[in-house]
Amino acid sequence: MTLFKRKRVQVDQVIDLRAPASARWGSPVPCPSCGGRGYLDHIDPFREIMFLHCTQCELKYEVARSAMAAEGTSDTVTS
Ligand SMILES: [Zn+2]
Repeated sequence: MTLFKRKRVQVDQVIDLRAPASARWGSPVPCPSCGGRGYLDHIDPFREIMFLHCTQCELKYEVARSAMAAEGTSDTVTS
């Protein structure tokens, strides 16, 4: 008899590039892995990608502007 069912938490190293809706382009996005504070290393203005690393777990991640704009944008799709 088990009173508590333990959910087996699968920890994947999948990085969700979709940033939180509150995130703004040009400002650091919280770490997708641990939620720690992100540090913005640099921005690629041509591909519109932000390169960040986590100040807590030192994970390096990228956030594309197109991914951020996926929600709540009125921009039309570029042809
Ligand atoms: Zn982290």
